[in-house]
Amino acid sequence: MISIKSDYEIDLLRKAGHIVYLTHKYLEKYIKPGITTLELDKLAHDFVISQGATLSFLNYEGFPASICTSINEEVVHGIPSNRKLKNGDIISIDIGACYKGYHGDSAWTYPVGKISAEKQYLLKHTKEALYEGLKAVKENCRIGDISSAIETYANKYNLGVVKELVGHGVGSSIHEDPEVPNYGKANTGHVLKENMVIAIEPMLNLGSSDVYILDDDWTIVSADNSPSAHFEHTVVVTKNGCEILTGDDNFE
Ligand code: MG
Ligand code: MG
Repeated sequence: MISIKSDYEIDLLRKAGHIVYLTHKYLEKYIKPGITTLELDKLAHDFVISQGATLSFLNYEGFPASICTSINEEVVHGIPSNRKLKNGDIISIDIGACYKGYHGDSAWTYPVGKISAEKQYLLKHTKEALYEGLKAVKENCRIGDISSAIETYANKYNLGVVKELVGHGVGSSIHEDPEVPNYGKANTGHVLKENMVIAIEPMLNLGSSDVYILDDDWTIVSADNSPSAHFEHTVVVTKNGCEILTGDDNFE
């Protein structure tokens, strides 16, 4: 069942989303060659706690860290470690924060130092695919309208759409109904109503869309080792569009 949030709940979701946004802006300054993903994890952890929130992913289904850090061919769910970022890497950072029982969820993929033209292409068009999905959201739209907008855009730029992982509802649980796939047909699926809250999160590969899971049972990687990017916002459905809860006008 897809829950419709009260205005009171939307306020808490807005606060949780804003904390996620602030955490991204805080971490961004540290994303440089030489820092380890574990150091980024600790910075994010302490920042989220300082905001009066908790880490949504820490211990979620056993996940052993505060944030997900996925480098290059890693698609999602990378576990922070002593690995140092290198010039030319790209890193997706996925952050979830819980404020007074309500969650925000947002991933962003960042360049480390100077990256190749093809990685720039991947980042630009994966972010744009997210915004194509966001543009499809408004009261009485259907999930398939969002899915189709993302897939159509990704196909246009010849990027592989990861199908094994999907967006989702967000509320007092980090993952709620409905599923929001990044592929599908317009005018199909659940109808969205005002005050429903969903996370939209295209994961696109420079190569094939195929992925597999590493032996750590968490990290998803592209099957052909091609670079992968991931951009995600949590949004609330409004009469004429949506309000992004995990960003503001400068978060682009
Ligand atoms: Mg998510
Ligand atoms: Mg996320």
